[in-house]
Amino acid sequence: MIEWNNGIAVLTLLTPFPVGDVNIFLIKGERLTLIDVGPKTEAAWESFKSQLKELKLTPRDIEQVILTHHHPDHVGLLDFFPPSLEVYGHPLNERWLNRTDTFFEEHKEFFHRLFVEFAIPERFFPYIEAMKKTLKFSCNRSLTGTITEGDTPPGLDDWKVLNTPGHAQSHIALWRETDGVAIGGDLLLATISPNPLLEPPLPGETERPAPQLQYNASIKKLLNYPIQCMYAGHGPEIRNVAELVEKRLAKQHERAMLVKSWLEAAPLTVFEICQRLFPAVYERELTLTISETVAQLDYLRSLGEIDMMKDNKAYLYKA
Ligand SMILES: [Zn+2]
Repeated sequence: MIEWNNGIAVLTLLTPFPVGDVNIFLIKGERLTLIDVGPKTEAAWESFKSQLKELKLTPRDIEQVILTHHHPDHVGLLDFFPPSLEVYGHPLNERWLNRTDTFFEEHKEFFHRLFVEFAIPERFFPYIEAMKKTLKFSCNRSLTGTITEGDTPPGLDDWKVLNTPGHAQSHIALWRETDGVAIGGDLLLATISPNPLLEPPLPGETERPAPQLQYNASIKKLLNYPIQCMYAGHGPEIRNVAELVEKRLAKQHERAMLVKSWLEAAPLTVFEICQRLFPAVYERELTLTISETVAQLDYLRSLGEIDMMKDNKAYLYKA
């Protein structure tokens, strides 16, 4: 049963991804706004329409879409809407929505370089091309306009944008001060910690971002806001935001310290650390487990706990 709660309705759609369902949100503002849309599948579209019907709405009633971030499970279904629909999001969504050959080329070169630096054996290099596979559930279009930190999105006078990079470089959250409600996208999830995914350097830069450091800063930033209820992109809404932030930070610190203890015994490559952290899944989920591994190393380096040296073409880390 879908219902309105303080002008917000939560719809839940199936995704073809291991994460399971995705939540998308309708907000009754000056304009009827949809926050995220779900993956590009027929099943998601049918389910979306039938959930709208419960609210006596059709897709034509949606006046605009705001994206929390660019991942296919949040944006793909845009391709089922008329191209005239207005879509707003952080500027860094654009390179993932309106994908150019140049971006694909940069993406490929970036990951190829990383794989070499991480000492990943060549038999895993086909994973680089395979990263594109999930994009078939994404959309192909441009943003109508961009929104970023401190902005009030069009048609949503009570809401403010918070930049919250980490899980994605394009990630934002929305915050309504009047009643302490936030829409967090994948920033904080009740039962799992979102992956700090590696992305190529931002336009005009040469160094890659350090997503775990960004992520930690983004969730710490939430502590400055008296959030009563934060809706999440996956799973139930979160009412104990501060407690969950502390828990996530502590758990990540603990994992990093485990890695540090290994590096006290011997220098290791990223791939060797990844195998130790994720012995059961690294082969199947190489890109996710590598991101999670690099996250610990970026974190330890930011604390000055470990050093990185180049050994031939690969990096070796030591405490
Ligand atoms: Zn995501």
